[in-house]
Formats: sequence, structure tokens, C-alpha cells
Amino acid sequence: MDKMNITEPARTLPVRAEVDVLVVGGGPSGIIAAQAAAEDGLKVMLLESRSFVGGNMTIGLPILGFLGQKGNQIIKGLPQKFIDRLAARDAASEHRYCPLHMGITLVEPEAVKTVGLEMLTQSGVDVLLYVFCAGVVMDGDTLRGIIIESKAGREVILAKVIVDCTGDADVAYRAGVPCEQGNEQGGMQPPTLMFCLGGVDTEKLRMSIAEEPRTYLTDFIPNEYFGQNNQFIVVGLRSLMQKAREDGFKLPVERTILITGLREGEIWVNMTRVSGVDGTDPVSLSHGEIEAREQIEQIQKYLIKYVPGFENARFTKMAPFLGIRETRRIVGEYTMTRDDILSCRRFDDAIAVASYPLDIHHPQGGDCTLEWCGDCYDIPFRSLVPQKVKNLLVAGRCISTTHEAMSAIRVMAPCMAMGEAAGRAAKMAVHDGIAPSDIDVQKLRKELLEHDAYLRPAEEAVV
Ligand SMILES: Cc1cc2nc3c(=O)[nH]c(=O)nc-3n(C[C@H](O)[C@H](O)[C@H](O)COP(=O)(O)OP(=O)(O)OC[C@H]3O[C@@H](n4cnc5c(N)ncnc54)[C@H](O)[C@@H]3O)c2cc1C
Repeated sequence: MDKMNITEPARTLPVRAEVDVLVVGGGPSGIIAAQAAAEDGLKVMLLESRSFVGGNMTIGLPILGFLGQKGNQIIKGLPQKFIDRLAARDAASEHRYCPLHMGITLVEPEAVKTVGLEMLTQSGVDVLLYVFCAGVVMDGDTLRGIIIESKAGREVILAKVIVDCTGDADVAYRAGVPCEQGNEQGGMQPPTLMFCLGGVDTEKLRMSIAEEPRTYLTDFIPNEYFGQNNQFIVVGLRSLMQKAREDGFKLPVERTILITGLREGEIWVNMTRVSGVDGTDPVSLSHGEIEAREQIEQIQKYLIKYVPGFENARFTKMAPFLGIRETRRIVGEYTMTRDDILSCRRFDDAIAVASYPLDIHHPQGGDCTLEWCGDCYDIPFRSLVPQKVKNLLVAGRCISTTHEAMSAIRVMAPCMAMGEAAGRAAKMAVHDGIAPSDIDVQKLRKELLEHDAYLRPAEEAVV
């Protein structure tokens, strides 16, 4: 049968709100963007389609990227304040150095949701949950507002500046910003459904790895590291997986990835994988959710049978949704490349500093490629500014990068730092009555530094 189309009749929509700054998406970038924009009392609204804020910070992942490859802290400002709040509730670890991931900061997913909402409401941000950004209101090439869809129907929210923190560039895409998706063949990093096991003897796990390096070989992280750290990420154990495969196990990845939780005996498992899922297509997403759930049983059995410390492990909980690593990226005023990352490039419009390596989970097959630059690289403001559409900024994993550069900047600490920059830029644009693309970036950098964000000193050479 031919694909049918139906024309929706034009209709008049009620305007629910008119705000100064509208942040769409309440993940790591959106939470921080909204707080930054609201600092001087502007009218700021944050929209989120789920029943909670936090985005991928609620799926059992550690925050990566607070520390650089030289061990120094390179993300500070509002992101650090968020961690401080979590830590005050015993819901965040210190930033721990890791030779593979640079900085690991463990967080408690439920506390992320609570603290996120608490900080937003205390900052005066109007938080609207259960609403999906379904369309845009354009005036020529200027974005005037967005159309939301919810139980209350279709409504409009108008704003002077909009920050797209949806991870999928939903606003930008609908507004007509050119977007790219995946690598040259359209291949995207595959998604993972995280799950958590309790009753794991994490001491036995780490000491076995530390003391028996030949049996328990890890990728890139020296085995002795595990003898010195009781909060850690294990990546590797490939020979155990090989043995399990020979014994008939079906495992979707090449590497065992295990992350200690903050609570005793807790391990988050990052090992499901469904190649070929397109996170912008509901049919594909549904397939991903079903398939990833089916993979959990085999992975759990593998861990219990082959990995030390899992003998008495039991399933406790899983992430509320399939974790999407990659979908759309905007084409902005500057597109960050693999070379920018690997050459530790500096930009005179730098608004954040990152250091996480290129980390591409292969679109097909179960492996991954990692490449480090040895230090830090800048994220330029121009990569947050989309082409073709005015009044819009983008923060988080869907800024303007290539497929490869995205694999590095996507981790949560830099996403939070981009959120802070975008929120402050939006605020400046509203105050000055100009488009965010026209703000004085040196003034933005000054404001970031005054609020304790980290940027590299100007006297260090700028490319
Ligand atoms: C399996 C997996 C493992 C990863 N491992 C790590 C790790 O260990 N450490 C790390 O730091 N990073 C990790 N990452 C990367 C990191 O989690 C993401 O890149 C990061 O969370 C992106 O932040 P964001 O704010 O751009 O988007 P997100 O975290 O995706 O947040 C986007 C928010 O916007 C909302 N939203 C989306 N569309 C709409 C819409 N149309 N209307 C309203 N709301 C909308 C979503 O519900 C969500 O809350 C991993 C990612 C995955 C998937």
C-alpha cells in the first residue's frame, strides 16, 4: 500500500506563556542552561517531555569530563555547584581520576532528579514537565516560539531566546537549521539500556583484577589502578567474554563495562547494545527497547558465571529509557572536527574546555575506538550558534561537530558547561535586545570566569 498522507487543517493555538528565555530539554545541558539564564531574574522556562529532569544523567552513568587528561579540574562554575548539592546529600562522589575516562564522578540517579528540580525552582525557573516540543513558530528566519503537545493539547510558548538542549536538536531541526546525523554512511553510535545489579562483591572484583592481570585484562586502565580505587569503571575482560562465547553465550558487545554505584554492592552494567537504532524514529526506538531488554538476561548470566564478585549478584533496577548516544547534530557557525580535538585546539571564542577522548562505539559490531589528545581542547561559542535561524542557541551533545568530534564532547560535564555558556549568552542577548549570535563573546567569557567557570588563560596561544 502507498504511504498515505493526511492534511491537518490549520488551527489557532492558545499561547500558554511568553518568556524571556525558553530552554527545551532538561538533561545535563538544559538544567544548567536554565539556571544560568535565570540568574538575574529574567523570566525563564524549562520544558521537559519526561516526568523528571536529568536526561541521561538519570540512567546510571557516571559523569565524565570534570577532570582533564593531566588530572586538573577543567569544568567548574554551575556544573560544580550541582555536584556540590548532590554531594551534600551523599549522592555524588569526588571527581576521581581514571586513565581511560579522565574524570569519573558517580551520581545517584534519583537524587539527580530531585536536586535538579530543586535547583531549578529555587533559581526561579518555571519548569513544565510532560510536554513535548512538537513544532516551531517562525517569523521569517527568526524563531519566535515553539509548539508544545501535551495532555492539554497543542499550545504555544513564545520566547525572546530559545536554547535547544534536547540532545536530538529537535527544536533546531524543526526550525530549519541544517542538521547532520551519523557518520558518512549515516551510521550512528548504538544505544544502550543500562541496568543495575545489587549484591556484587566489588572488593573481590577490583582485587581480582588488580592481582590477576593475566586473567582479568582491562582496556587501557593498568590493573594496579583497581587495587588503589574502590569506585571505578571496568572496561575490558575480553578474554572472559571470548570464553563465554565459546560456551554458547550471546553477547552484544566486545567489552565488559561495569560501573560501581554509590551504594555498597551496586554495579551499573553498560553492555546492552542495539546497532542500527535511529533515536529520531519511534519504530526504531521501540525495536531498541525490546531488543535491549532481551539482551539483559544473557549479560547477567555471563557476569555471574565468569566475573569475580558477581556470584551472588541480583537484578535490582534499570534505566528508565534506552540511552541514545547519537542522533542529529546541528550545522553551526563552526563545526568542531576530530583534528580540533586531537590537536588540543584553542579558540578565541572558547566557552568551555573539555578533555574527554574521541570515543566512538562502532555503529556496527560491538567494539569501540578511543583516541586521546594528551591535554584539553576548547569548545567554541560558534559551535552553539546554528546556521540560518535567529534567536536560537544549542547546547549539549547536538552542537555543531562532526560525527567523530561529537564522540568526545558528548560526555556530561562538557554538556553542562555548554549549558552554562548558552544560558548566560541567552541572558545577555535578552538584556541587550540582540540575537544571541550577535553577543560580545569576550563579555560572555568574562562573565563565565567571574562565575568561576574554567577557561584557559588568554595569554596561552590561540589558534
Ligand atoms: C549508553 C550511554 C552511555 C554513556 N556514558 C556516559 C558516561 O559514562 N558518562 C558521561 O558523562 N556521558 C555518557 N554518555 C553521554 C551523555 O550521557 C550524553 O551525551 C549527555 O547526557 C547529553 O546531554 P544533553 O543535555 O545534550 O542531552 P540528554 O541527556 O539526552 O537530555 C535531553 C533532555 O531533553 C529532553 N527532550 C528531548 N527531546 C525533547 C522534546 N522534543 N521536547 C521536550 N523535551 C525533550 C529529554 O527527555 C532529556 O531529558 C553516555 C550516553 C549513553 C547513551
